[in-house]
Amino acid sequence: MSLKANEFVSFTRIDLGTANGWQETPELFLKHNENCGTEQVTTIFHGAPGDSTQEVVRSYPVTRKNLGRCHNEYHCKECGIVYRVDSSG
Ligand SMILES: [Zn+2]
Repeated sequence: MSLKANEFVSFTRIDLGTANGWQETPELFLKHNENCGTEQVTTIFHGAPGDSTQEVVRSYPVTRKNLGRCHNEYHCKECGIVYRVDSSG
């Protein structure tokens, strides 16, 4: 079975666990933040007319899977990391 690079990475899962439990941010996650995705310039509006700024935002090729209320799993298709975020408090 042969896979193209992007198909391969969608099967790659490097499990970093739950972000809430991290003592330190894993290096792979920092690399993901730095290297994955694409930067786009977006106009952000702050409410008042004419009050807007141009900001660079990065969008990541991340899929989100709902594991329960306020509990989501994210999987980056570019570097293959998997992490979960529990925002239920
Ligand atoms: Zn990534």
